[in-house]
Amino acid sequence: MKVFISADIEGTAGITEHAEGNREHPEWAEFREYMTDELVAACQGARAAGATEILVKDAHASARNLILSKLPDYVSIVRGWSGHPDLMMFGLDDGFDAAIYTGYHDRAGADSNPLAHTLTGRIQRILLNGVPASEFTLNSHCAARYGVPSVFLSGDRGMCDAAKAAIPGIVTVATSEGFGPASRSMSPARSTVAIREGVQAALSTAPKGGLPARSDLWELEIEFTNPVDAYRGSWYPGMDYPAPRILRFRSNDFFEVQRAIRFTVL
Ligand SMILES: [Zn+2]
Repeated sequence: MKVFISADIEGTAGITEHAEGNREHPEWAEFREYMTDELVAACQGARAAGATEILVKDAHASARNLILSKLPDYVSIVRGWSGHPDLMMFGLDDGFDAAIYTGYHDRAGADSNPLAHTLTGRIQRILLNGVPASEFTLNSHCAARYGVPSVFLSGDRGMCDAAKAAIPGIVTVATSEGFGPASRSMSPARSTVAIREGVQAALSTAPKGGLPARSDLWELEIEFTNPVDAYRGSWYPGMDYPAPRILRFRSNDFFEVQRAIRFTVL
């Protein structure tokens, strides 16, 4: 069994403020350790369920957060950003049996996590076929392009609830809950145990489903906070620019949606 894990930090137990995930700030040293411990717990759960190969994508900011000396020897890792539109899922292909997400956070505009955002802090919201989309929304559709089911997610409670609504049967561990700029959270000691057990359970019960609803036509709407960002992106081929802060793009191929995001948002 081959397992892919996309690891972010803003849904890690305890995290409450952006500085804690920012390598320019001293707090990052502590929180990259919690991020790594949750990722390692997911690897251990996958291994216990029979995973023979695990590929991890470090998917936060610089994509150079995870502490390599803590990774088990059966794990490979993708660090940095290649420029490929798979972004936080880069390295995935149709040879994998399951996709797992750790440290994930709710979408821009959600009140469930003080660190909620979608891709960058410059985006007000992203709509996919009229529905507000999180990074998980986009990434689970990316996995579905390869036929790979999304079977487990850990992150804030709002993200977990949204994941369960999109993919019935996905196993989740809610590490924290937001109250405005504050959070109430599991201890890292507890979140790692819950994640190890959750991943093992998710992979042991032969994943059924795990694929989000497909569509014959994708409509992407990107609403920026600042009009200058929409103007710059409006020059992408096929991009509509219906209002000062809004870009709209249509395709029947989800990869084209990903490519449009790659070149207009990042
Ligand atoms: Zn992140």
